[in-house]
Amino acid sequence: MAYEYTNIDGHRVEVNVAKAFREMAADFQKATGYSLHVSDGTRTWDEQLDFWEDYQAGKGNLALHPSSPLAYHVETNPSGPRALDIHDSGDDAGVTVAGNVRSHWIKANASKYGFDPAGYGFSQVEPWHIEYRGQIGGKVDTPKPSAAQVLEAGGLVNSTIIVKAASAVGLDLAIAAAVIQKESGGRNVFGHDAGGAYHGGGEVTEAKYKDFIKQVRGGKTSNGVGPAQITWPAFFDEMEKAGLKPWVPLDNMKYGFRLMVDYLGGKTTDAAIRNAGKRYNGNASYGDDLLVKVKEWRQRLAGRNVSSAPAQGDERMASRQRFLRHDRGEDITVDGWDGPETQAAVKRYQTFLGVTADGIWGDATEAAHLVFKQTGKSPKVSSSNPFGIVNVEGLQKIAALYGYTGRIDNIWGSGSAAGFAKFLRGNHGYPANQNDVLGPVMWAAIARWLRGRWGYVGNDVPGPVMRAALTKANDANKREL
Ligand SMILES: [Zn+2]
Repeated sequence: MAYEYTNIDGHRVEVNVAKAFREMAADFQKATGYSLHVSDGTRTWDEQLDFWEDYQAGKGNLALHPSSPLAYHVETNPSGPRALDIHDSGDDAGVTVAGNVRSHWIKANASKYGFDPAGYGFSQVEPWHIEYRGQIGGKVDTPKPSAAQVLEAGGLVNSTIIVKAASAVGLDLAIAAAVIQKESGGRNVFGHDAGGAYHGGGEVTEAKYKDFIKQVRGGKTSNGVGPAQITWPAFFDEMEKAGLKPWVPLDNMKYGFRLMVDYLGGKTTDAAIRNAGKRYNGNASYGDDLLVKVKEWRQRLAGRNVSSAPAQGDERMASRQRFLRHDRGEDITVDGWDGPETQAAVKRYQTFLGVTADGIWGDATEAAHLVFKQTGKSPKVSSSNPFGIVNVEGLQKIAALYGYTGRIDNIWGSGSAAGFAKFLRGNHGYPANQNDVLGPVMWAAIARWLRGRWGYVGNDVPGPVMRAALTKANDANKREL
């Protein structure tokens, strides 16, 4: 597969490996006072071939042929480019030689960040060579503009106040932006209603507003006020009762947005938006145009330009929507847009998976999703089930010694599985080429562990006796670790 890279010290480092390295480097610096650097990261096939040829000619360091599955510096390695060579900022050899404080720190702590100090296992020991064992295939984080920046780029002023007001009353930001665009563009000004008080009266101030409302209550035609262009006199009365100041943009928008929320009645379908727009302004064509603008804002807010082709992120969203539709029975549109409908469907799926139901498909959701795809079971439901024992918190504590950084919560997700598999690989002969999912080969490794440490007598088949021994091991580790 094609990987994405981060540049560290001039070297290509796969995104997830880079993230783990930076975390380790930060802690290394705290512990030793030296900064940690990359001497070599990902190599092309040809670069690795050069190293190998040098080594063959007796000139260079130990180097594998680029076709070797253990050549983890190579971008075409079947498990991906996972190796880093490191050095530190000290004047002496530091982490590049064994037996000093800094190299000892790396050897002792690398696994916490998912690195294996694999160079210690080489026929010519290379303390500088480490290999990442975690999940790779991360995406480069391109900083997205904030919502307020998107509004501003779309021509609205007072954008941070728009965001704040919409969020305060729970109005979809795309709808809020479209309303403001159709009203004053965010400017705190009087409107141009024919014959209205303060017609074209410029900036709304407290003094002007007080004079304005006096005129309106005295019988003069009203006029739009502020960013939401509140006009109907009864609304001003209501605002004052609620302690909202019509001349203050935040209060003004909160009130206007609150009206939209009421008019929408909890729906954000096209028809609901059209209808709410019509009620907001009293004019059907307003609703039609509002809907067009809402759709434009949705696209802008989803991080793409209205006129440009769908971005990669939207393709990913579309594929998730397809999954939710076909595999989870969600009646949602596959359009690549992360809207309220999709977010609600994601929340339901998250609840099923047992992760935080926030509607945002992030790392935790993705990890649980992968477990579901592999096992067909919710990681929550299977928490006690892959092993067929009631509690696995002791096994999670073991996993935590091998790189699992999540909670000890009896939910057997991919992180617990990875840490536990690593424990079995390192101590009980579970082969390196096996994945982290529980199967017969892993049961055989577990059986070796249980025979050696927990008094299990029996074969590799997970029957009641083996499960009893596993429970005993789990409970003891839960207590002691
Ligand atoms: Zn290396």
